[in-house]
Amino acid sequence: MPDLARVVSEIAEEMRQRPDRGKVATYIPELAHVDPGAFGLVVIDNEGNVAAGGDADMPFSIQSISKVFTLTLALGKAGDRLWARVGREPSGSAFNSIVQLEHERGIPRNPFINAGAIAVTDLILSGHQPREALGEILRFMQFIADDSTITIDEGVAASEKRTGFRNIALANYMKSFGVLDNPVDYTLGVYFHHCAIAMTCRQLAMAGRFLAHHGRNPATGLPIVQPERARRINAIMLTCGHYDGSGEFAYRVGLPGKSGVGGGILAVAPGKASIAVWSPGLDESGNSHLGRIALEALTKRMGWSIFAA
Ligand code: GLU
Repeated sequence: MPDLARVVSEIAEEMRQRPDRGKVATYIPELAHVDPGAFGLVVIDNEGNVAAGGDADMPFSIQSISKVFTLTLALGKAGDRLWARVGREPSGSAFNSIVQLEHERGIPRNPFINAGAIAVTDLILSGHQPREALGEILRFMQFIADDSTITIDEGVAASEKRTGFRNIALANYMKSFGVLDNPVDYTLGVYFHHCAIAMTCRQLAMAGRFLAHHGRNPATGLPIVQPERARRINAIMLTCGHYDGSGEFAYRVGLPGKSGVGGGILAVAPGKASIAVWSPGLDESGNSHLGRIALEALTKRMGWSIFAA
C-alpha cells in the first residue's frame, strides 16, 4: 500500500506547478476575486489519519457541495417522500439549465442541479422561518465536521442574491408547477446562504466522513444516517455530482463526488477515505479542473476507484 501522506504531498506539489488551471467562476462576482493559483487536498482515512497538502486550511466557498448535506437533511425529514418533488437521474445538462424542467413539469432531474437543490431547500424550510432553516443547515455542517467555527460568507451570499437571476427564474418556474411550498424569496434566501458556507479542505473532508463509513462518524462510532442512506447518497453523487461532467468524472476518478463552482470537490472512497480537494479554476462543465486531475492521480496511486476491485 503506498504511503498516503507521501502521495498527497506529491500530488499537491505536482498541482502547484501546473500551468493549466481552468477559469475561476465570475457569474457570482464575489467568487471572481479568488486566487487561481490556490490548491488544497486533504484525505482522512478509515483510522482517522489526516493527510494534507497545499492550501488545506484556506477557507473557500463550498457552493454546490452544500447540496450533499441539504439532501442528507431533507432525507432525514421526509424520507422517500422527497422523491415526489425531485428525481434521481443524471441530467446530462448544465447545472443551471431550465429546458428539462418544462418537459418534466417542474420536477427537477436530481437534487444536485440547481433546480433540484432549490426544491430540496424548500422542503427543509417548510414549517420554519428562513433563519431557523439556515441555522439548522449550518449546525449540521458544524456537527458532522466537528468544528463550530464554520460560518457563512455573507459577502458571497449577497453577491449571489444580487445576480442570481437564473436561479430566481428556476424557482419561479417550479413554483408555477406547485413544486415549491414556500415564498420563492425565502427559499432562495436559504439556498444562496447555504451555498455561501465557507470551509477549508480539512473541514470538508471531516464533514464527508460519514459517507465513507457506512453512515457513521468513525471517530465516535455514532450513526449520522443509516448505512443504506449513505450508500444511496453516494450513488447519487456518482451519477449526478458533476452535472454534465459526471460521466467523465466517474470514468477518470471512479469515486462518488460532488463539485461546487467555488472549485471544491468532496469525494468519497467508500470504506476507505473522505477526500476534499480545492482549486478554484473550473473546466467547461463548471467543475474544478485541477481538482479532478488531482483526484484521478490519487485514486490511481492508491488503487481506490470503486471499479477497481
Ligand atoms: N450557488 C451556485 C448557483 O446556484 C451553485 C452552483 C454550483 O456550485 O455548481 O449557481
